[in-house]
Amino acid sequence: MKKRLFSVVVPVCNEADSLERLYRELCTVFESVPYEPEFIFVDDGSTDASPHILQQLSVGDTRVKYIQFSRNFGKEAATSAGLSYARGDAALMIDADLQHPPQLIPEFIEKWEEGAEIVVGIRRPRAAESFLRRTGSRMFTAIMNMIGDSYAPQGSTDFRLLDAAIIKAFRAFTERGRMTRALIDWLGFKRAYIHFDAAERSDGSARYRYGGLARLALTTIVAHSRLPLRLAGYLGALIIFLAGCLGLFVIIEQFMLGDPLHIEVSGTAMLAIMILFLNGIVLVSLGLMSLYIGTIHEETMHRPLFVVRRILNIEE
Ligand code: UDP
Ligand code: MG
Repeated sequence: MKKRLFSVVVPVCNEADSLERLYRELCTVFESVPYEPEFIFVDDGSTDASPHILQQLSVGDTRVKYIQFSRNFGKEAATSAGLSYARGDAALMIDADLQHPPQLIPEFIEKWEEGAEIVVGIRRPRAAESFLRRTGSRMFTAIMNMIGDSYAPQGSTDFRLLDAAIIKAFRAFTERGRMTRALIDWLGFKRAYIHFDAAERSDGSARYRYGGLARLALTTIVAHSRLPLRLAGYLGALIIFLAGCLGLFVIIEQFMLGDPLHIEVSGTAMLAIMILFLNGIVLVSLGLMSLYIGTIHEETMHRPLFVVRRILNIEE
């Protein structure tokens, strides 16, 4: 009987020190599971020996597929490329730096065989990680869950298994500013979780610098939430309300009742109230405009209108 195909997608950026070990561990894992693997390595513009090593591996083993980018396009592009070439009944995304333990792959496969369409690796909090990075990522997840269009539990990572149906749906995304993880969460489908302890990075420091992380966070927020756009409008509405109340009070108290409370509102104060009111109107107009911009944004992303799990009795 022919074994079913299982894809492993690995984005690689200057990981020469860990690639061979990762490859060996992957091989060991797939000796004990009933799937034929394909290892898709995407070299995201490495400047070290990674391309050389990957080429060697692909010469020695036809299960190793190798895609080399012309320069660094970022991890999100690399995983997208890998997924677009994945032919398996399922694909697993895994980091090249051995922070995602390959020994857990059988557990991922087990959950998938039990019916989960996405199996997400959840990383337990790590003491070794810097305070800024840890709180930063916690806050980011919390904010995205509050204002975003999908839900992700704290600690969810790119270490995940995707069913072929999801890979197919994922290929329909055409938007450029993307965070693979958030897009996959947006797709829905049946999920299962596996908790794991991230190993220390096998060498050097994380390839993402804080600046890069902040940029990715902004991209994700813009792609998955319209709240920032609407903020101006909400603020404007609040200001109009406050200035309106103040203005009404002044008009009634000063001019209609003849200042019975002896406040003697100065001309400057009245001017201030008027300016505040007008600023509120400007902000609300901005908010209205951003509603249209938001719609344009949504249209240009060309997200699929719906995502299908399966179709029966209809030819595709
Ligand atoms: N990576 C990549 N392109 C980049 C940065 C990172 O392909 O521009 C890969 C990297 O080789 C690794 C994975 O993405 O396999 C995760 O990178 P890193 O360990 O730096 O991120 P973190 O563990 O902090 O999420
Ligand atoms: Mg890492």
